[in-house]
Amino acid sequence: MNKNYDVVITGGGAVGAACAYFLSREKDLKVALVDFKKPGNASRASAGGLWAIGESVGLGCGVIFFKTLSKQMNEAKENGGELPPLRPHQLPDFFFDFALTSNNMFPSLHEELREKHNIDFKFEETGLKFVMYDEHDRAYADQIASGIPHLSDQVKWLNADELREEEPYVTPEAIGAMNFTCDHQVSPFLLIDSYTEAARQNGVDLYLNTMVTGVETQGNRVVGVRTDKGTISCNTMINAGGAWASQLCEWATGHTIPVYPVKGQIVLSEKLPKIMRGCISTSDCYIAQKDNGEVLIGSTTEEKGYDTTNTLPELKGLAQGASKCLPILKEMNIKRTWAGLRPGTRDEIPILGPMDGIEGYINACGHFRTGILCSAITGTLINEIVRGKETTLDLKPFLYDPKRFEDLEPPFYG
Ligand SMILES: Cc1cc2nc3c(=O)[nH]c(=O)nc-3n(C[C@H](O)[C@H](O)[C@H](O)COP(=O)(O)OP(=O)(O)OC[C@H]3O[C@@H](n4cnc5c(N)ncnc54)[C@H](O)[C@@H]3O)c2cc1C
Repeated sequence: MNKNYDVVITGGGAVGAACAYFLSREKDLKVALVDFKKPGNASRASAGGLWAIGESVGLGCGVIFFKTLSKQMNEAKENGGELPPLRPHQLPDFFFDFALTSNNMFPSLHEELREKHNIDFKFEETGLKFVMYDEHDRAYADQIASGIPHLSDQVKWLNADELREEEPYVTPEAIGAMNFTCDHQVSPFLLIDSYTEAARQNGVDLYLNTMVTGVETQGNRVVGVRTDKGTISCNTMINAGGAWASQLCEWATGHTIPVYPVKGQIVLSEKLPKIMRGCISTSDCYIAQKDNGEVLIGSTTEEKGYDTTNTLPELKGLAQGASKCLPILKEMNIKRTWAGLRPGTRDEIPILGPMDGIEGYINACGHFRTGILCSAITGTLINEIVRGKETTLDLKPFLYDPKRFEDLEPPFYG
């Protein structure tokens, strides 16, 4: 093989494929994308939510924050004790900027890929509704809203009647909803295929089903990527290895980075007639009806290493949570279940950009639960870094720095 490239991207999930696409738009760099689909690769396991506000306040993955809380609440209710304190899980402002900038790119990206490359990743303007069942949920939602006053124009409150008008299949027990009107969805499968195919059409060489087995360095510089099919020389390697990024980083730099797998399980129904206008998050799960009618119910947040098994209690919990919100789902046929591995970091913020002490190496990893949403801004930033341009957003909070992760308590994933 031994071809020469300006850039080799290792990992062809949403993040790597987006990097390939944004780097290829000017058609002036020789770029290769190398990918081997390891079991649990995240992008194909994802829900495809572009839940910029929902994820930034912790509601997209409602299960994370409510699992522990719900248990404490049930105990408090049973014992007549006090309800536990509410703890909305809000990421820092710079992450909101990152997520919202990416989110804002999707309408034009969708159009661009359709017009220039004839590919449609099914961008749907749905909104994300946090459906509330009781006053505790409402108090939680109020706290979230008070934490994001600058985004109040993106938050629409629905009382019980308004909710039922918008979502007639939601249980009459719901007392209302908080709707993040800018949070939408795509087909994650089609999004990766779109980035990849558009990059190919722009001249990127695809090495699919090709395993990276090592990295070639000379002195303090990356000069190539070893694969099971031969070595590929490059000036720059981009590490988009998802939950496996730490291994790739170690090969390139001699150091690991704290990116680790966080398992999420999903239940998918057979196609149904349209039962939802928007995506929904509750204290039990999130629910999204995809463009083809299938209803996707997610997701757990489990630290189980590289385990990708499906487990009955968790799947049952998701299905029960979804049918509590949308009772019609009690009749659904389950088409498929799966588990994927989010590339987690302790601060839940991606690791982007170069690393001290090594030339020709760039991180594009650790996107945890928002790699689909944040793929567009990541591709943009990585393209700017490779070209030595000023970056659209300040890169500093995303750079790898061991101090970033010092003294961090593990988040309470249950
Ligand atoms: C259940 C679930 C639901 C989710 N829902 C959402 C959502 O609604 N919205 C959202 O924005 N995000 C969501 N996420 C998170 C999102 O899927 C991830 O953040 C994103 O997919 C990460 O993309 P990636 O390209 O970094 O990783 P991946 O998609 O895992 O891609 C990395 C690729 O690199 C390959 N690779 C690794 N090592 C090597 C090697 N040595 N050689 C060759 N190839 C290699 C892997 O096999 C893989 O193909 C969800 C994740 C899960 C698991």
